[in-house]
Amino acid sequence: MMRNERGIQGIGMTSARTRDRLVQRLREQGIRSTAVLEQIRNVPRHLFVDEALASRAYEDTALPIGLGQTISQPYIVARMTEALLEGFSGTRVLEIGTGCGYQTAVLAPLVREVYSVERIPELLKKTRQRLRDLDIYNVRLRQGDGWEGWRKYAPYDGIIVTAAASEIPASLLDQLAPGGRLIMPVGPSGRQELLRVTEHDGVLQRESLGAVSFVPLVKGS
Ligand code: SAH
Repeated sequence: MMRNERGIQGIGMTSARTRDRLVQRLREQGIRSTAVLEQIRNVPRHLFVDEALASRAYEDTALPIGLGQTISQPYIVARMTEALLEGFSGTRVLEIGTGCGYQTAVLAPLVREVYSVERIPELLKKTRQRLRDLDIYNVRLRQGDGWEGWRKYAPYDGIIVTAAASEIPASLLDQLAPGGRLIMPVGPSGRQELLRVTEHDGVLQRESLGAVSFVPLVKGS
């Protein structure tokens, strides 16, 4: 059991059965990776939302986290993580749009190093503490503009962007390692699709993973 579960297990929302139901649902919706499903089961999503919403934390739905932002839907987090890690042999992953850190917490134990950029300082501060409480130490967080990526630690074997834009930021493609892959929602509000871009011998291959709905990747920090 992870530390600091706020003592609300008693209400039942964090029960093994509640989490099992979510995992079962994601499996039915096509998530195949047992490592990813195990993470969805393990990560205490109720600690990433306000206490008032904690009873809904294991529903497969996005929820508001304040400051106009949301915690992503578990299915989407699972789908993006699975798409990123399929056949993955790299070590370094860049995440843009840390938010409450739920995607970060699902991903971090499955890779060596995560670098994550968020533009809203208040979110980042809480997320830093939350990841520490969950004993996750292989994540480096930074306040900044994700359009710029994080040049200092580039290149990245994987890049995952959890906010949508009409195009893939050029800096992110620049910071992708040879053979690397980038997962990102692209398109205008209401018509976004999740893309996986894979670099192969200097050529970028694009693949659509279906329709999604994300908050926008804002320009500037
Ligand atoms: N990954 C989160 C969901 C993130 S929502 C989860 O697991 O639930 C998208 C996040 O992207 C928000 O926190 C928003 O503040 C952030 N964001 C938007 N534009 C950004 C930018 N240019 N650079 C970095 N972060 C950005």
